[in-house]
Amino acid sequence: QQMASEALRILNEYAAGYFHDTLLNTEEGQLVGLSYFKQRGFRKDIIDRFKLGFNPDRGDVFYRDALAHGYSAEVLERAGLAKNRNGIYHDVYRGRVIFPIHGMTGRILGFGARILRTTDKAPKYINTPENELYVKSRVLYGMYQSRQAIGKLDECLLVEGYTDVISLHQGGVENVVASSGTSLTEDQLRLIGQLTKNLTILYDGDPAGIKAALRGLDMALSQSFNVQLVLLPEGEDPDSFVQKSGAARFHEYIKSHKQDVISFRLQVGMTDAGDDPVKRSKLVNEIAESISRINKAEDFALQSHYIKLAARRLDVDEAGLINLINKYIRDRI
Ligand code: ATP
Ligand code: MN
Ligand code: MN
Ligand code: MN
Repeated sequence: QQMASEALRILNEYAAGYFHDTLLNTEEGQLVGLSYFKQRGFRKDIIDRFKLGFNPDRGDVFYRDALAHGYSAEVLERAGLAKNRNGIYHDVYRGRVIFPIHGMTGRILGFGARILRTTDKAPKYINTPENELYVKSRVLYGMYQSRQAIGKLDECLLVEGYTDVISLHQGGVENVVASSGTSLTEDQLRLIGQLTKNLTILYDGDPAGIKAALRGLDMALSQSFNVQLVLLPEGEDPDSFVQKSGAARFHEYIKSHKQDVISFRLQVGMTDAGDDPVKRSKLVNEIAESISRINKAEDFALQSHYIKLAARRLDVDEAGLINLINKYIRDRI
């Protein structure tokens, strides 16, 4: 097991170096890959910091190079870098720009690879399959590059995508990691929790982003995070927003649009429920369930803050709300 993951680790290091070198020092890399990053507004220093790469759309160039350097077909396949079709191996990342995914200590655990122009035929991103090294539920993109700033600022921004992390770094916002499109897991939260308990979720301003943000919430509350949410303008993600508006306006927007969990739930829920009494009652239960997940012994003050806020906005009796919250706590024991 340990030996197997060591082989993957060494191969990933080699592959990341190879793709990065291809991007910077080959004609096709510069013409296709580097032009793509330039057109997205990525600077050279940031391309280096994240060791971004490129592999051309030419069958098995990387595979053959790796074989020549002593890597076996078996380990290349396990790393998700080569695929066997009818007995012939070919590269998995073809005509794609490549984002190495670093672990907390800087080891490269896997990759994300983006197609240059999106179509219906091919997925926009391809990611490393689960293996001994790459366990999706325990990885956050940007953790290695951001961990110092997260600790120093005592806050972690959570975004959806690779390019969000990169553009924010380029704008000087360095305390940011991405869940890479999957919903947040307990292990990912524990990873963040080693550095800070202040989490700001900054998902895309579309229904999918709102849904994804809501999903991570209860888990974060259970782990005693102080969670804030920011909804971006419709159609924007952190990358497009900061590239368009600059870091100063980004900071300003975050500051004035931060909401705590219960406020966020209340806003989304009240808008949805309107005057419908059934929906209202369902919302009261959902909010009570959320508040019940805050560990009372540790976060008494936080919990009573939420109780007051929710009772006021929902226009219900505080004591009644507390009873409901206690019921949810009892139900879980
Ligand atoms: P870009 O700006 O390059 O279009 P994005 O990060 O804004 O990328 P989204 O569609 O918002 O892309 O998706 C967020 C994240 O979800 C991506 O960064 C990626 O990690 C993951 N993702 C998106 N599409 C796919 C896919 N087809 N397969 C696997 N993961 C994906
Ligand atoms: Mn999106
Ligand atoms: Mn996005
Ligand atoms: Mn984007």
